[in-house]
Amino acid sequence: MRVICPHCQSKALITSSNRLSDMVQDLYCQCKNTADCGASFVSTLAFKHTINPPLRTTEQIAMSLINRLSKEEKEALQRQMSG
Ligand SMILES: [Zn+2]
Repeated sequence: MRVICPHCQSKALITSSNRLSDMVQDLYCQCKNTADCGASFVSTLAFKHTINPPLRTTEQIAMSLINRLSKEEKEALQRQMSG
């Protein structure tokens, strides 16, 4: 993903991110034009809308992954889930 510095329009590097919700995260950015600018800033990345819906729900994806496990792997997973 490309972030442009709002001060000098140069490319910026995403140095870290902070997930605020399932839909929104803050991106901490550093301008790569260190000779003239070098600003650091925060941009927000937000989900807008779906173009194609996911093929399966999260639960269906998890179920299909679990169904591929061996009996031993399922038992190990159950032990982990029960803490
Ligand atoms: Zn800049």
